[in-house]
Amino acid sequence: MLGLVINLTFLVSVTFFVCFLAVATYRVVCDSEEVKNKEKRAKLLKPIEGVFNPKEELIRIRQTPKSDRRQKLNEYKKKLANQIAGLAMVQTEVIQAIRKNPDSSPKELIEMARSLGAGFGMSKKQFYSAKKILQKYCIRRAKIRKARRRRYPDDKRIYRAAFGENPSSAVRVIESPFVLYFCCANLDDYVRIYFSDAGPTYRNKNAEKMNKSGGVYKPQLVVFGAKGIVAAEKSNAGRFSRGVSPRVYKHEEQHAINALVGSKTPENFHEESIPYGPIEPLTLKLKRFICSRCRMVEAQAHDELLAFFTCPSDEVDEVFRWLTNTAAEGGSYDYLDEERKSLLAYFDENGVCYYRQIAKEVVTKVLRDEYRELIRTGLNAFQQLLGLGFSREEAIAILGHEPLRRWRKLANRLADTVKSN
Ligand SMILES: [Zn+2]
Repeated sequence: MLGLVINLTFLVSVTFFVCFLAVATYRVVCDSEEVKNKEKRAKLLKPIEGVFNPKEELIRIRQTPKSDRRQKLNEYKKKLANQIAGLAMVQTEVIQAIRKNPDSSPKELIEMARSLGAGFGMSKKQFYSAKKILQKYCIRRAKIRKARRRRYPDDKRIYRAAFGENPSSAVRVIESPFVLYFCCANLDDYVRIYFSDAGPTYRNKNAEKMNKSGGVYKPQLVVFGAKGIVAAEKSNAGRFSRGVSPRVYKHEEQHAINALVGSKTPENFHEESIPYGPIEPLTLKLKRFICSRCRMVEAQAHDELLAFFTCPSDEVDEVFRWLTNTAAEGGSYDYLDEERKSLLAYFDENGVCYYRQIAKEVVTKVLRDEYRELIRTGLNAFQQLLGLGFSREEAIAILGHEPLRRWRKLANRLADTVKSN
């Protein structure tokens, strides 16, 4: 008996020591990572003392004498780029912390964002927006956790509870901090998720097309009381047996992070009406109108590029082709294809002869050539950031806060900042 007690005491002590050692090692790893992150930030960027509120600063600059304005504006732009990148690095570090412990309390995460953000002049408004995002994350996370761990630990049961029907074949469900990820071995089970907002007739009619699709994120879908927590993968039996595709998983999860953080849509966007009139100003007006249509899809391309950047093995030229090839060329991301077709059809039916010709030229220029250029410069900006020393995750976070049209300028400004550091 005594022997047993001694043994038990020994066992408890050893267990305690192992746990203590594990916690201590974890802490050392965390601390060394924190130090590494801190050193990296200092190497790439300049700390900002005090508070830097971009909007207020711009108003102040506009009130200074004209002679000083240009120089002040240049300094402002550099400082702003520095802050965007700094806060993006903070965001990356908070996401790293979430990945380590998805169930961190909102208080812990908000405090982390506040203390790291202070090094880059985080304003009150920026802090409140970070706080709102982190609170939203914690609410969603709690719902994912409750659904998966407490109510439906079984893969098939959680599928049925979320989409109303039993899956016809194997389904594997992964709980990421940001989404419930359904990897479906059967096309119909995947299509049920893909078109979860449409009826069964529509689903059946379009099911075959989905053979081309690898994965999907559903930003508007509500399951288990939370919006935007579902992503899915269409796997075939062979691949499924080897497990979930890390490439598709990362890609779809990034869409969920983009949606949580808030994808940056182009500013000053307003829809314009189709112009008519004398030939000269018409070309310009027409261009402005078509550009406004182009901006509507810019946000989609922005979101898609960020998701593609998660995969190091995706070659730049390949991503370019995926995003710009028309459906006829075998592409599935040419968001302007439909727009182009419907505008050309519209002008064919309604335009007088000279107008039709101009419209065709402008549509092709804006919706084809300029869009391709936008994607190409976007890809280059990302490569430039990697070249400066930012990690893939950091570069994604930096570009996530800037409309696609401005990526090149931001990357160039950051190149100046890093070189002058
Ligand atoms: Zn995507």
